[in-house]
Order: sequence, then structure tokens, then C-alpha cells
Amino acid sequence: MSEIKKIGVFTSGGDSPGMNAAIRAVVRSALYYNLEVVGIRRGYEGMILGDFIPMDRKSVGNIIQRGGTVLRTARSPEFRTKEGRQEAYNQLKAQNIDALVAIGGDGTFTGAKIFGEEFDFPILGLPGTIDNDLFGTDFTIGYDTSINNVVEAIDRIRDTAESHSRLFVVEVMGRDCGLIALRSGIGVGAESIFIPETKTDMEAVMHRLEIGRQDKMSKILIVAEGEGESGGAMEISEKLKKRFPHYDIRVSILGHIQRGGKPTCMDRVLASRLGVAAVESLMEGRRNEMVGLLNGKIAFTPFDHAIKHHVEINKDLFKIVDILSL
Ligand code: ATP
Repeated sequence: MSEIKKIGVFTSGGDSPGMNAAIRAVVRSALYYNLEVVGIRRGYEGMILGDFIPMDRKSVGNIIQRGGTVLRTARSPEFRTKEGRQEAYNQLKAQNIDALVAIGGDGTFTGAKIFGEEFDFPILGLPGTIDNDLFGTDFTIGYDTSINNVVEAIDRIRDTAESHSRLFVVEVMGRDCGLIALRSGIGVGAESIFIPETKTDMEAVMHRLEIGRQDKMSKILIVAEGEGESGGAMEISEKLKKRFPHYDIRVSILGHIQRGGKPTCMDRVLASRLGVAAVESLMEGRRNEMVGLLNGKIAFTPFDHAIKHHVEINKDLFKIVDILSL
């Protein structure tokens, strides 16, 4: 029998679309199993301040389709200190909260791991980040929405590029991880993709533009924001202008539009599955793990593996770009 009677749920770090669907799933499944459930506002910051709200079925009504997070999110420097975590623990104990579900990215799980070990406190994590950079899940909650936002935006850019015969260098999110760039690049038929994980041969990119189809009116190059090797979107554009003075070259930085908006059905279903699995697994005694989905099945990965192990870039996807863009 489970000793857990009251669960706290919170979102932390950067927001991602589908977090609300995950909150809803945690709340509704906790209630289904006759557990009490409390929402903690603004992540670890709210935990330290005791910013808790009781959640019932209605409190998560009409949120599955909304982007962002109704519990809000924050970054908490205090939680990085022992004193801050002690205060968070005191607040949880004062509310009789027995276990936590943390929805966030690698920083959130680093904090969760330290806290869980320090106070012997059961915590499970749900991967909520647009970057898809956590080991132990094929997809993170928010990634699918984000790449669809990117594809939709670049489809619009393509209309202009095509009408004016322009080359666009488009910067997308991804400080350390190029998975948004890579997958959305395939989705829009990009000529080349620049990501932080691999060295891009600029000369080869130029050569491909030279030998590529000259009848193609528009060209799209995608650059992840963390790509440093080639100097980022602006510098890549300058290099191209020097080599191809006859090209009309523009830079477009997509920015925060990639994060917001309605979550896709894929993200809603992923969040719903993971949320239910988290509650059921806490009741079964699991802790200090991230709940993810691998090959369509629920999978558990210890927090330190989920954070430290790098997600491999599938080289075949790059090859697909090369084959299809010529
Ligand atoms: P995203 O990937 O979207 O940025 P994230 O979860 O990685 O999300 P962070 O800002 O890195 O976001 O981390 C969220 C919070 O986790 C931090 O504000 C901090 O409170 C906590 N945290 C991160 N690292 C640690 C750590 N080493 N010790 C304790 N707490 C930490």
C-alpha cells in the first residue's frame, strides 16, 4: 500500500507548451487515486515561500489546450543553497506534502535530485522543455509544439523568399541543443542546418549553394542560436553575402514565438500519459527518476542520467537534409 497521501506538483525553469496538460494529468490522476494534490506556484521559489494552492478537478478544467503554465514558473537562486532547500522542506512538511512531481528541464531535475537525496523526499520528474535535450525520453513535453511553431513560421517566410528570390538565414531556439533546428529544418526543406553539436563545414555549404539547383527561387538555412562555430545567423549571412553578392540575403530570428501557443495533440497526449504514470509510480514507491517515453512505452531514468547523458544527434537526419535539398 502507498504511504503517500498528498502530492505537490510544480513547473520550473523555462515554460513549454503542454505543461498545463501535464499539471491536469497529475491533478486528475491523484484525485482518481484518492490522493490530495496541491499546486506549487512559481517552481522552487514558490516552494520556499509556501505559495501553495489546493487543486481540485475543476481547477485544471479548460487548460489542456493552453500554452504556458497556469502554475507559472520561475528560476530560484535560493534553491541552490542548503538554507533555501531547508526552507522549502519545512514548507512542504507544514502542508503534509509527501511527494512531488516536478515538471521542467535539466536544471529542475538537478535541483530535484539534490533535494530528494538531502531530505529523503520522493520526487518524480516530467520532461517539460522545448529543447528535447533530456536523455531517457524520445520526446520532451513542448518539443513537438515548438517545431510545429517553427515550421509554420518558416512556411510564411518561404512565401516571401520565393516571391523575391531570397535566401533566408533563420535562427531558431537551442542554446546547447540543435534538435529544434534539425527536425524543423527537415520539415521545411532547408538547404543547410547549423547546430551546436556538430562542426559545420561552411565551405561545403557554400559549395552546395553553388552546385545546387539554380532554378530554385528561395533558399532557407536554419541556425540554432547556440551554434558558435560559424558565428551564428548574422555572421553566416555576412559570409554568404561576400561569396554570393548577387543573392538577396536576409536574416530572421524567430525568438519567443517558438515557445508559446496551443500545444499539439502529440504534446497533450505525451503530457497526459506521463502525468498519470508519475502519480501511479510515486504510489508504487518510485522516486528520484524522470518519467519518459521510449519507443512508445513509459520508461524511468534516474535524474542524474537524464541530465548528464547527452542526447545523440542522429546523423541520418543530416544526410536526409543533404539528399533532399539538392
Ligand atoms: P529549461 O531547460 O527550459 O531552461 P530548466 O529546468 O533547465 O528548464 P533552469 O533555470 O536551469 O531551468 O533550472 C530551474 C531551477 O532549478 C533553477 O532556478 C534552480 O532553482 C533549480 N536548480 C538548477 N540547478 C540547481 C542546482 N545545482 N542545485 C539546486 N537547484 C538547482
